[in-house]
Amino acid sequence: MNANVTIAEHPLIRHKLTLMRDRETPTGQFRQLLREVSLLLAYEVTRDLELRPVTVETPLETMRAETLEGKKLCFVSILRAGNGLLEGMLDLVPSARVMHVGLYRDPQTLVPVEYYLKAPEEMAGRVAIVVDPMLATGNSAIAAVRRVKEEGAARIKFTCLLAAPEGVANFTTVHPDVPLITAAIDRQLDEHGYIVPGLGDAGDRMYGTK
Ligand code: URA
Repeated sequence: MNANVTIAEHPLIRHKLTLMRDRETPTGQFRQLLREVSLLLAYEVTRDLELRPVTVETPLETMRAETLEGKKLCFVSILRAGNGLLEGMLDLVPSARVMHVGLYRDPQTLVPVEYYLKAPEEMAGRVAIVVDPMLATGNSAIAAVRRVKEEGAARIKFTCLLAAPEGVANFTTVHPDVPLITAAIDRQLDEHGYIVPGLGDAGDRMYGTK
């Protein structure tokens, strides 16, 4: 396994992911589960954020404590399914900034086409955490991370729920400097670019669009 790839193997993540894979799981529950898993993934992806010492007055005395160092974190959501991971992460880090990248996959070529981009004014120097539930071919994640690099982020990580081996290989080859955190790596991609066994189309399952 590539040293830059982490599989978040917490039992709660594995349990919730199984429920999400189940075709009978309804839209509302799927969305709720994704939100819950995103909290656990956020814990994993933020565990090495830098801290700086501060002084704080408790009701009893003054003490030295710690606070997050540097500019506010930026979550980068790859629309539309990325928003499912974004919401939970924002619950955990409410002061974070958000960048949205709108990409859709051309169904014939599977190449990502950008239709939307909105970033905070000051990306330079920020830690950016790019989120998308599914890393299939890896093409959308690669394109989004390229955009984040252009914006000048200091450090970038990519987090997904499920990955295909093809996507992992593709992503880590193009962006070897970007750690990848996923809950699981499935068997393969099918001929339509879906992850198998997978969980289907994450966006459709989140929003009930199929
Ligand atoms: N996107 C999805 O939502 N599901 C897949 O299996 C692959 C890409």
